[in-house]
Amino acid sequence: MDLDVASLRRARTRADLRLAPGEQLLAGGTWLFSEPQPGVTGLVDLTALGWVPVERAGDGLRVAATCTVEQLAAYVPDPAWTGWPLVAGCVDALLMSFKVQAQATVGGNVALALPAGAMTALLAALDAVAVVWAADGTDRREPVADLVVGPGRTTLAPGEVVRAFDVPGHALRARTAVRQISLTAVGRSASLVAARRDEDGTLTLTVTAATPRPVQRRFTGPPTSSQVTDALAGLEWFDDLHGAPDWRRAVTTLLVDEVLAEVTA
Ligand SMILES: Cc1cc2nc3c(=O)[nH]c(=O)nc-3n(C[C@H](O)[C@H](O)[C@H](O)COP(=O)(O)OP(=O)(O)OC[C@H]3O[C@@H](n4cnc5c(N)ncnc54)[C@H](O)[C@@H]3O)c2cc1C
Repeated sequence: MDLDVASLRRARTRADLRLAPGEQLLAGGTWLFSEPQPGVTGLVDLTALGWVPVERAGDGLRVAATCTVEQLAAYVPDPAWTGWPLVAGCVDALLMSFKVQAQATVGGNVALALPAGAMTALLAALDAVAVVWAADGTDRREPVADLVVGPGRTTLAPGEVVRAFDVPGHALRARTAVRQISLTAVGRSASLVAARRDEDGTLTLTVTAATPRPVQRRFTGPPTSSQVTDALAGLEWFDDLHGAPDWRRAVTTLLVDEVLAEVTA
């Protein structure tokens, strides 16, 4: 849809990211242009900054916030990155066509903080850290799993911009498994569960979509069924038209069993 804004600035430098009152950051625009944006009078386009979409960083990877879902899916990984199939699993979990995937950015997905944000799920499951540019010129780093704090809510302060996500090499070299379920055949994710088993045997379970924010549980080795039950006990289950909390709890329990079986087989 058209937005009734007075200005569109293309950011070329970090200084251009200082927002005037009423200005909003624009990435792929797939959400921004999908509904009215009351109070938004100007847009600042991040995509003109020319950030390299995906690049090696040490033994890991840096994914620019402006990397599109399509670019991430097309990246050719290091052969040692056994955890890479998680990328395709999470991309497929998004309820969007290839046309939207060509525009939607990884950073926009995280900043939007929808429970069904599959790029949030992917990055959280890989223990990625967000590099955040503050308006005063300083940087800060925060795990993606902590940055998203609820439906549509993040720890980003006004004027903060996500620059990139740093994915550690050990997570990329892990064994991974992912499962997703929706209430309807091509509906939005109601539960998205990922398991990661690192080379040292550590097991990380990440639950999204079924919970208002990413939930992670770590085990020193394959957990017993009672450890799994304890890990899921007391979680807050998300409630919206894509699934009732009791159903989400039930299906998540099954998906957790499946991903754990896959990474520990
Ligand atoms: C058909 C369709 C299906 C969709 N399916 C899903 C789905 O299954 N799951 C899901 O989570 N979403 C879904 N979406 C919503 C949206 O498209 C995605 O979340 C997408 O990844 C958002 O990225 P974008 O680059 O288009 O963000 P934009 O629309 O450009 O921006 C989204 C928000 O993030 C902010 N933002 C963007 N980049 C940054 C940054 N680097 N730093 C700080 N703030 C930033 C913007 O200011 C804005 O508030 C869907 C949208 C459509 C149209």
